[in-house]
Amino acid sequence: MDSVIGAEPLEPPSSRSSNGHASNGSAATPSQTARSRVAPANQRPIPVKTPPRSETFPLSKAALAFRDRVFPGATTAEWNDWRWQARNRIRSIEHLERAFDLSADEREAVSRHKGSLPVGITPYYASLMAQGDAMDPLRRTHIPVGQEYLRTPGEADDPLGEDGDAAAPGLVHRYPDRVLFLATGFCSTYCRYCTRSRMVGEPGGEYTFSHSQWDKALDYIEAHPEIRDVLISGGDPLTMADEKLDYLLGRLHAIKHLEFIRMGSKVPVVLPQRITRNLIRTLKRHNPLWLSIHFTHPAELTPEVTEACNRLADAGIPLGSQTVLLKDINDSVDVLKPLFHGLLMRRVRPYYLYQCDPISGSAHFRTPVEKGLEIIRGLRGHTSGYAVPSFVVDAPGGGGKIPLLPDYVVGRDGDDLLLTNYEGGTYRYPDPDGTLGAVLAKGRAA
Ligand code: SF4
Repeated sequence: MDSVIGAEPLEPPSSRSSNGHASNGSAATPSQTARSRVAPANQRPIPVKTPPRSETFPLSKAALAFRDRVFPGATTAEWNDWRWQARNRIRSIEHLERAFDLSADEREAVSRHKGSLPVGITPYYASLMAQGDAMDPLRRTHIPVGQEYLRTPGEADDPLGEDGDAAAPGLVHRYPDRVLFLATGFCSTYCRYCTRSRMVGEPGGEYTFSHSQWDKALDYIEAHPEIRDVLISGGDPLTMADEKLDYLLGRLHAIKHLEFIRMGSKVPVVLPQRITRNLIRTLKRHNPLWLSIHFTHPAELTPEVTEACNRLADAGIPLGSQTVLLKDINDSVDVLKPLFHGLLMRRVRPYYLYQCDPISGSAHFRTPVEKGLEIIRGLRGHTSGYAVPSFVVDAPGGGGKIPLLPDYVVGRDGDDLLLTNYEGGTYRYPDPDGTLGAVLAKGRAA
């Protein structure tokens, strides 16, 4: 029988149920962890050896305060160990109640939840969220609320039609020269607006992520020389053990016609401790490799994330960011400009700003499309061009990414094209052979 790929690297055998899912019943709760750690002074165990200096991470004040409040027995070495972070993810109502003052709406929504896209938050990422404010931006992205159960017109479980474009299980072949390789259904945290909410956190569903599935996807890529670019995603591929990543990247690199491998991950943001020296060595073996990191808000730009980005950038891995535009969370220039500036300082190029996909139950996250254009208009010309991502709508039904830009063409006057700049001034560009702007000019004349 195939071994299931995905949750396994993060879960020790004792904390998992027989189907491979994390089992709430057997995993240590924060208080259990705390209870098991607090012992009379004369019985305290010898402190855990501090990891080698190269594996230490900065520990920000917020994280330290959260650790002492919610995981009082945890050592710094444990906190900085990504496997400890993964084992102690906040996954149940009891865990949440220890970390946050839940609103009645959150409590009810968490209690109702069944199936894929479970609650899952690393202790580190939870430490960035406000204990007493249900409207805290990061908290809203990870703790369910009742609106998640409302369905509105145009929403779908698979709005991008990925399942219809599957060339092999877990392999989406939509664009002629590139494929999306869904390597795992596991994430270290689960975003409530996830485009793949239908499948993440629930291995054994439509996507099983077995070795034979990988083999079928690899066989397909091998048989299609027109494919030059593979994006490994999931779930989150950086949640997989180093050996599994090494295997998959090695198999892909052995395919002669592949020019380019990319990965998409939120791990450097929600589990920065995962970016270990050994992971870096593993990734470096497979350069050129590009990484798109899922950022949401400037509150994520902590010293821990800086360290993770530095390690990746120092390894020669080009870093880009992907940000989903989310209502009342990051839908303003005042929030996104500091995020994009902070990313550039960490050598991450803001790459995509996504209109939120119409997944089922996402109406409370979605902004009108013009909000994204308004933000791009508020950035372009007002800051470095490198700090301005492309704003895209991923067309429902499998149309792919469609970039949208504010309209800077305002008309035509004879041989001159009329353009507006970031300050709203109108400028002429000599364009005697062109027709751009003529329709606008005609409309105005009529
Ligand atoms: S990390 Fe990515 S794949 Fe995982 S839940 Fe969030 S958006 Fe979805």
